[in-house]
Amino acid sequence: MNYIRKIEYKIVPKDSFPMTRNCSGCGGKSQFINTNSFRVNANGNRLDVWLIYQCASCKHTANLTIYERLRPDSIPKDVYQGFLENKKELAFQYGTDSHFFSKNKAEIEWSEVRYELELIEDFKMPKMHPIDTNSRYSVSNPYAIKVRAEKIISELLQCSRSELKNMMKVGQIIVTERKEEHLILVEIADSYQSKVLS
Ligand SMILES: [Zn+2]
Repeated sequence: MNYIRKIEYKIVPKDSFPMTRNCSGCGGKSQFINTNSFRVNANGNRLDVWLIYQCASCKHTANLTIYERLRPDSIPKDVYQGFLENKKELAFQYGTDSHFFSKNKAEIEWSEVRYELELIEDFKMPKMHPIDTNSRYSVSNPYAIKVRAEKIISELLQCSRSELKNMMKVGQIIVTERKEEHLILVEIADSYQSKVLS
């Protein structure tokens, strides 16, 4: 089908992912947040780098391993410098990388992850109603943020979850999730707007 309107969005995190883990300071499960600081240990020809997370209630720290026993010349100089200077972009890069968390066996607190829907491209005039007929939304999730497709779509279309469910039930909205590509496709059929919005 040729859609009149194609809209592209991207789900991007607003800040680093918080994680949940046992805190030896609090003596129980607690939420840890990114301090945006690295710990660098350069010892002869061995380099260790950690990203420091901190318990939100007692400030106890937990280190997540970035590099362990690495030859110092095997990473670019500017990256090494970035660790030493606690470069924010670098801390954000690791703090939003779910592979980095799983390598550290760290549990991301997905319910606390804040994200926004960034408009990449809208191939038609703006100021149209979000639920416009004959259009297709494509929403990519490059950070693999764990959030339900329905939640994202109702945010995009500015409708409630139950309204969305009804529209999906009668086939006016078709949702396809391509999980391995981290992509959500939303197709809105013809002659839709009048029915729902009237
Ligand atoms: Zn604590």
